Amino acid sequence: MNDAKPAQPLLPFTRPTIDEETIAEVVAVLRSGWLATGPKVAQLEAELSRYLGGRPVRSQTSATAGLEMALLACGIGPGDEVITPALSFVATANVIMRVGARPIFVDVGLDSRNIDFDQVEAALTPRTRAIMPVHFAGLPVDMERLYAIAQRRGLRVIEDAAHAIGSAWRGKRIGSFGDLVCFSFHPNKNITTIEGGAISGGSPEELKAIELHRWHGQVKFGTDGFDTLLPGGKCNLSDVAAAVGLGQLRHLEAFNARRRELVARYFELWGGDDAPLRLPERGDEGHSWHVFTPLLPLPRLRISRGEFMEAMKARGIGVGVHYPAIHLFSCYRALGYREGQFPNAERIGRETVTLPLFPAMQLADVERVVQAATDILHGARK
Ligand SMILES: *Cc1c(COP(=O)(O)O)cnc(C)c1O
Repeated sequence: MNDAKPAQPLLPFTRPTIDEETIAEVVAVLRSGWLATGPKVAQLEAELSRYLGGRPVRSQTSATAGLEMALLACGIGPGDEVITPALSFVATANVIMRVGARPIFVDVGLDSRNIDFDQVEAALTPRTRAIMPVHFAGLPVDMERLYAIAQRRGLRVIEDAAHAIGSAWRGKRIGSFGDLVCFSFHPNKNITTIEGGAISGGSPEELKAIELHRWHGQVKFGTDGFDTLLPGGKCNLSDVAAAVGLGQLRHLEAFNARRRELVARYFELWGGDDAPLRLPERGDEGHSWHVFTPLLPLPRLRISRGEFMEAMKARGIGVGVHYPAIHLFSCYRALGYREGQFPNAERIGRETVTLPLFPAMQLADVERVVQAATDILHGARK
């Protein structure tokens, strides 16, 4: 007799939740005859703006495009330096290179994963033009310290808020204040437009520049007049995508509350000193928990991170990696960055694992993940 239990379905580390009403709205847009940028995009921008305290919002096809346009709108280019953390998704640094500026990496806190402001101060030079921090996993950086440094040195801040829609710092939503705040609506993020992003904030001149970079650098006037003011790109959101986003935005608060509830269960089960892995900084109610990323105690294990991930997968649990340290990628080593410069980012890059966390998960799923990881890690102790 085979008494093996039926295999449980794979629990991915993330999965978007799209309701039937949203699907119906997408179908209605498809039938409407207007698919590209139109009334749904205008409505999404207006609703995001309302959510963010009335600040101007400009959507685009990705946060990567948004971050790049924000840099261009600030006039940042060759000869300029932008300070940014060595630990993030690589897009954060790539966009700095793409506008011809130089990314100046600094280390992050081991548990917060957020940029270390003491090191930001030390990295300032006469060429520094901007700071691009990341609210890692949705844990806001110290906004008081960030903007104090920026104001003292006359720098622009471009916040990579890809993880932080719905996050709040001392009760104020990320994106409801600050210079230029860039959100992502990739399907892995807290809300999605399939692919998409939005910039909140910006001066009137920066907003004008963002609109031009977003759409061919072109302006229209009169009935049939056109002018092209700069060689703009093409990254306007579609109404189909915006319809998805509008359906998501209705659930944002509930999604994030659910994420906090699931994380609370992880902390409950692993809160003691005997936890088999190192949990990230807890934060407060303003943490939107885009990802849950503990560190494996690799020096005390007989297995590699890859082997841990394989063992979890064999138990039907998906595990991700957010993220390898950016400065160790070939593209950045070519600028002279090397091993040993940013010990926390490097250690996180080696040891981090992303465990399942998404709004449709059940508390029992958290228990299953904790049980599996604990078993694997205890069995692998040196
Ligand atoms: C996802 C992500 C981005 C890029 O977002 P896209 O919308 O996929 O372009 C940028 N920065 C961070 C930190 C991210 O996690």
